[in-house]
Amino acid sequence: MPNRKKVVLATRNQGKVKEFNRLFADAGWEGISLAEFDGVPEVVEDKDTFEGNALKKAIEISTYLNMPALGDDSGLEVDALEGRPGVYSARFAGEDATDEQNWRKLLNELEEVSTEERTARFRCTLALVIPGEEPIIATGACEGVIAREPKGTNGFGYDPVFYVPSMDKMMAELMPEEKNQISHRARAMQQLLAILK
Ligand code: IMP
Repeated sequence: MPNRKKVVLATRNQGKVKEFNRLFADAGWEGISLAEFDGVPEVVEDKDTFEGNALKKAIEISTYLNMPALGDDSGLEVDALEGRPGVYSARFAGEDATDEQNWRKLLNELEEVSTEERTARFRCTLALVIPGEEPIIATGACEGVIAREPKGTNGFGYDPVFYVPSMDKMMAELMPEEKNQISHRARAMQQLLAILK
């Protein structure tokens, strides 16, 4: 496509690439998956904030390839657990934990917690690094309540136990288009596009 600015997406997840490109379409940007490049070193997500990890990914990849890069990091913050699992969401139940092991651990930890106190949110931070320019940071959140048992088969991660009051459904019961309207990632992307405009 002519005149499209290219940005490397710091992910090899084709689902995320598609999602980002749908949102990027009107802004004159084209996202390219990391999978298209050979030999890009793996970025270790060792920061203790979403912003720290998103920025680290974008800076390392932009520097390596000398082109704009978009880094993202996301996770679940549970109020009754003082914000845990947060940046450790993917490995809450251990280094190689499955999604189910993670949400089962979460339900166990919240066993004694009342419905009113089960509030939580997904958060996403995006960092766009363009060589020679100041990084741009955008954030998005999606509020919800941790259910007592799983329901629904769509999505991934904690979606089966995350109830979305505004939709009166579990996240894992939403169609991808519905999730893309309210998700933390979509909201962060909208904020980023507003800044770019
Ligand atoms: P990452 O941003 O791909 O590193 O995601 C970190 C972890 O946060 C995932 O492995 C999930 O456990 C959790 N997570 C992030 N976004 C979502 C979501 O949209 N639904 C469910 N879980 C999510």
